[in-house]
Amino acid sequence: MRQPIIAGNWKMFKTISEAKSFFADVKGKAEIDGVESVICAPYIALPALVEAAQGTTIAIGAQNVHFEDNGAYTGEISGVMLKELGVKYVILGHSERRAYFGETDEIVNKKVHAAFKHDLLPIVCVGEKLEEREADQTKDVCKVQTTEAFKGLNAEQAAQVVVAYEPIWAIGTGKSSTSADAEDVIAYIRSVIADLYDAATADAVRIQYGGSVKPGNIAEYMGQANIDGALVGGASLEPASYIQLIEGAK
Ligand code: PGA
Repeated sequence: MRQPIIAGNWKMFKTISEAKSFFADVKGKAEIDGVESVICAPYIALPALVEAAQGTTIAIGAQNVHFEDNGAYTGEISGVMLKELGVKYVILGHSERRAYFGETDEIVNKKVHAAFKHDLLPIVCVGEKLEEREADQTKDVCKVQTTEAFKGLNAEQAAQVVVAYEPIWAIGTGKSSTSADAEDVIAYIRSVIADLYDAATADAVRIQYGGSVKPGNIAEYMGQANIDGALVGGASLEPASYIQLIEGAK
């Protein structure tokens, strides 16, 4: 049985004090048996969140990591640093990082390996652009991104990856994919992983949907056989809405 996982992706929102206040509001309430609750915050808020999350079931994640352990990479943060901090997850290959920061499939794969090297669990984002969807290339794009991201992982590692299927046209736009469409693509991604490894591995991988998920539509996605949770941007920023997302994933 795959445990549902809801991850809030705060992107470049919230100061340290805002993060602390958010956590105080969701503590206890965003902790529900059977649903994993994750908050992925900007780097500088991570120490305060990791501390606040001690003794709770809420996991803390970063939104990126460099693939080297250290070196002359001005402005970057490594897996060694995140591990020491006590971070559990790291979002990799988000479409905003691919689009604005030039992250290629090859870089994403290096980061996936860096994550495992330091015991961080990757949440790997895949998804098509609007023009790719219109050209009927959604599944091809997801297949390439998934295959490249998993390259070099053994089956045991692969089973621990969380994949987030996020159609780019649905991110932050209020235009969400229908649950049936999302299920179709996510089932396909699972079949790609089964081809790369085996059915048992593919069955263990949790695959989230992301793109304009709200408290009002979370249950619809969770009702689909292959959808194991959501990666949520905008609707994860308010404590009340974040709590409703966790409740809705039950
Ligand atoms: P959104 O963002 O929920 O605001 O659409 C999702 C994401 O980018 O992970």
